[in-house]
Amino acid sequence: MPEHRSGQNIQYTLTEAGMSAFAVFYMQSPSFLAHQRDMQRQRGQHNVQSLFGVERIPSDSQLRNLLDPLDPAGLRAPFWAIYAQLEAAGHIEAYTGVGGTRLISLDGSQYFSSPKVNCPNCRVTLRDEQPHYSHGVLLAVVCAPEQDHVICLEPEFITPQDGHEKQDCEQQAIKRWIERNAARFAAGSVTILADDLHCHYPVCRLLTQHHMHFILTCKEASHAALYEEVHLLEQVEGAISTQVLEKRYGRRRERWTYRWVEQVPLRGDLETTMVNWCELTIRDVASDKQAYHCAWATDHPVTAQTVPEIVAGGRSRWKVENEGLNVLKNQGYHFEHNYGHGEQHLSSVLLTLLLLAFLCHTALGLSCATYQAVRRELGARRTFFNDLRALTRYFYFPNWQRLLTFMYHQLDLPPEALPSQCEADFLTKPHAS
Ligand SMILES: [Zn+2]
Repeated sequence: MPEHRSGQNIQYTLTEAGMSAFAVFYMQSPSFLAHQRDMQRQRGQHNVQSLFGVERIPSDSQLRNLLDPLDPAGLRAPFWAIYAQLEAAGHIEAYTGVGGTRLISLDGSQYFSSPKVNCPNCRVTLRDEQPHYSHGVLLAVVCAPEQDHVICLEPEFITPQDGHEKQDCEQQAIKRWIERNAARFAAGSVTILADDLHCHYPVCRLLTQHHMHFILTCKEASHAALYEEVHLLEQVEGAISTQVLEKRYGRRRERWTYRWVEQVPLRGDLETTMVNWCELTIRDVASDKQAYHCAWATDHPVTAQTVPEIVAGGRSRWKVENEGLNVLKNQGYHFEHNYGHGEQHLSSVLLTLLLLAFLCHTALGLSCATYQAVRRELGARRTFFNDLRALTRYFYFPNWQRLLTFMYHQLDLPPEALPSQCEADFLTKPHAS
């Protein structure tokens, strides 16, 4: 992060400010820094230093002032550094989908909304003729049908300059993300998942130009020409391929009907692109009630062999909502709790730090056996964070390994199975050296 201050009177480094805010999100504790300032006064040492490498903890208002002017783009690099480490160590081999590609879901989300609080970077809309302020972000995550967790990649902020319609804004953001990041992946090695909003000619053409595959939700309401063609083909026997599977879930049985056709026009204009279309309808066999229906446009070849994989890939997109942002919103990352909204970039800087904290926990869950054992034993995510908060409030731990090993032993996990290596201290390594 480039220094934005001039003059001699620099009390705290930007790293200290950034890591302090990161620590609040990482510990999921809005009062973490306050408790550690108390510990510092009482004992002359504290866990923000030992666990996050921060010697002096700035006050909340100092933090706000230090972080507000920063461009969140400066925080993109760590996402890729962690991703590269996970990949190099083989921890994300299981994250593959159709055709052996990596599935990356791109999905817009609003992370701030207020009738009052605002900054110059807020998106302003009218609600009941009154201005309403919000911030949106395009979240990028690696997901896979069989994996419970998603791996956060760098986000793209949706800016008010992008356009007036929600659709314009999000489409500009997805374009920027693709143009900036496509070259990070080998040609043809990635499948982009996105919702109906992005299932349009400009996005598909851009993805094809950048050698990225796609599986995009494709609704009839927004794709008249494509569905006109599908309905025409339905009149021709055998033109639409169909495959029916029955699945058992205990005593309940479901009928999964896949239908697909290749090479239909994405839109009615002369300038269009041909896509492959597929859909899945799930019905309960006993009641014949429809339990699920969705359709997609893709550039992957659709055959009886590939259609289940393509549909599973398309369906794994829900994980952004369920595994990604919902976790952030509801399960205790305390976004914007202490620092307010700022006047420049604070809101997006904090969200980026929060996403990084989320990624670091996911990365440890994939790579650190001690962390995995403790999390598994504690079950609910809330229990783990409650314990972490309480332990670090009352005790000083010289490093993460000691903290996690303490939890491991107190939980009566088998001592002989305690891994000798603990990956959790990676947070303090880079700036200790
Ligand atoms: Zn704002």
